Amino acid sequence: MVEDKGGRLSMRFKDLLLDREVVLSPDILALSTGAVPGDNEGLARTMKLERDDLGWFQEVHLKQRPVDFFTEGVYMCGLAHAPKLITETIAQAQAAAGRALTVLAAERQRIGGVVAVVEKDLCAACLICVRACPYDVPYICEDGYSMIDPARCQGCGICSAECPAKAITLQSYTDAQLLAKCDALLAEAAS
Ligand code: SF4
Ligand code: SF4
Repeated sequence: MVEDKGGRLSMRFKDLLLDREVVLSPDILALSTGAVPGDNEGLARTMKLERDDLGWFQEVHLKQRPVDFFTEGVYMCGLAHAPKLITETIAQAQAAAGRALTVLAAERQRIGGVVAVVEKDLCAACLICVRACPYDVPYICEDGYSMIDPARCQGCGICSAECPAKAITLQSYTDAQLLAKCDALLAEAAS
């Protein structure tokens, strides 16, 4: 609440961090304009970008990857993320540019080994993996089987689990490896 007390401004508000009522007498009271997310649903769907409940784009991890999306190679800063001070926006923009430079400046990119691989002779080109992949990686090539670019695959394993022909293997997580782990776990639990 704002009042005029003998020619001076008086502000009374609840400080949520202190969890108590605070009264201030500022010289100037400047109200900022509220901000809401733009119409970003189409962009989020196309680029597979996470958003929070309010519709702002959401980082992978507040501390460990504060300007990254789960979609590799896409970074955020400023009002795309949430309303913030200009100093925070500049710092975040520098961080996003720095992250992008690590990709652009490298002559070669190293990719993880946990990627999906298609056994082309088993593939029936049913399109299930194409539709299931949250990152739009698989596609049916001209020769009529599913292709997965290992540089784009995020290793989530969804296509591997969905493929009815068992034509897709997630490297390092083959059925034999997982069954061996289960056997070892059960044997240990039973002993
Ligand atoms: S789900 Fe399996 S069978 Fe179907 S297109 Fe993909 S790899 Fe081929
Ligand atoms: S493992 Fe995940 S990211 Fe990779 S192709 Fe399959 S569904 Fe897509």
